[in-house]
Amino acid sequence: MKFETKVLHAAIKPDPITGSILPPLHQTATYVLEEVGKDKGFDYTRSANPTRQMMEEHLAALDSGRYGVAYSSGMAAVDSCLKLLKAGDHVICSDDVYGGVSRHFNQILVNYDLHFTYVDTSFPENIEAAIQPETKMIWAETPTNPLLKVTDLEAVAKIAKNHDLIFGIDSTFATPVFLRPLEYGADLVMHSTTKYLSGHNQLIGGIVITNRDDLSDQLKFVQKTIGAVPSPFDCWLTLLGIKTLDLRMKKHAENAQAVAEYLENHPKVSKVSYPGLPSHSMHHVAKEQMSGFSGMISFELTGGIPAGRTLMNSVQLAQLAESLGSVETMITHPATMTHAEVPKDERLARGLTDGLVRISVGIENMDDIIYDLETALEKS
Ligand SMILES: *Cc1c(COP(=O)(O)O)cnc(C)c1O
Repeated sequence: MKFETKVLHAAIKPDPITGSILPPLHQTATYVLEEVGKDKGFDYTRSANPTRQMMEEHLAALDSGRYGVAYSSGMAAVDSCLKLLKAGDHVICSDDVYGGVSRHFNQILVNYDLHFTYVDTSFPENIEAAIQPETKMIWAETPTNPLLKVTDLEAVAKIAKNHDLIFGIDSTFATPVFLRPLEYGADLVMHSTTKYLSGHNQLIGGIVITNRDDLSDQLKFVQKTIGAVPSPFDCWLTLLGIKTLDLRMKKHAENAQAVAEYLENHPKVSKVSYPGLPSHSMHHVAKEQMSGFSGMISFELTGGIPAGRTLMNSVQLAQLAESLGSVETMITHPATMTHAEVPKDERLARGLTDGLVRISVGIENMDDIIYDLETALEKS
């Protein structure tokens, strides 16, 4: 089956009882036993639920994996991956990970005696150099949020194999339409299904996919024990959203390429980060391992904070909203929005400059998106 077909049909079957073409929504907490010790494969929804199971199997198939384990948020999915570790273990992590992930690592997991080293994983030699005897995991995001750094998965998977490390990838930005990290040797793929996979800002959710029996068993044990599980309704909504994933992603990418090229030639923009631009330092790697470059762009305004603020207040079509990966274009200015509370030195050290803007390019008409930016940039 080709990917476009899988998006509609992999692990999805009409309901055997009614023929309902959409999967039934099993909104239930528990299941009645036929007799002691005899259930129909389900006993309690924290452990398993048929709607959730269909979503887990479907997403696993899309990412070329055998097992999917779903969570109530992307953060719960990340947390469960880190629960594969023990106190004293060390993790090497991409330096430009999603802000919520670094907050979790630095402000919660360090209290449980886990240790983290952040490196730019675009350079595999940085990872090699950071390995310690206690290192157990490499956690990378590609492309990263918000600077769109790209990690060479094949090169890093080799390092992980050589040193017996678990290699986990946050693939939220790429989606399985454009990148399937398990095919390059990653052990775990994680998505915030809140973003492109569900696609319409309708829920919060997460998933982890793996081919390894041992990791899948441990993740499922954590899932049912801690219970950070998605509601059956959210799984149902995710399944509905995914039906158009392939179409949506191609349109997101087509629009983003046009917007990135437009911005690159704009006099008030000093830098554009988009893996689909030949000027991106890892364009050659992105081209090799991704079949498209997705819909996220970040760029720097020459006018710094005032220009960023003006741009945010001048756009009409682009929605001023945190989050990403939905059908509508959304825009953020980290210095005054998501990272306003981060001390300036720390923010700059992380590459989040005063004029940095992140745009999640939607599936509107591309001329309308560009017109909106053009009009707003005139004032900025
Ligand atoms: C949003 C996001 C997360 C966290 O997911 P939630 O669903 O918001 O908990 C993790 N990683 C990346 C790259 C994200 O964009």
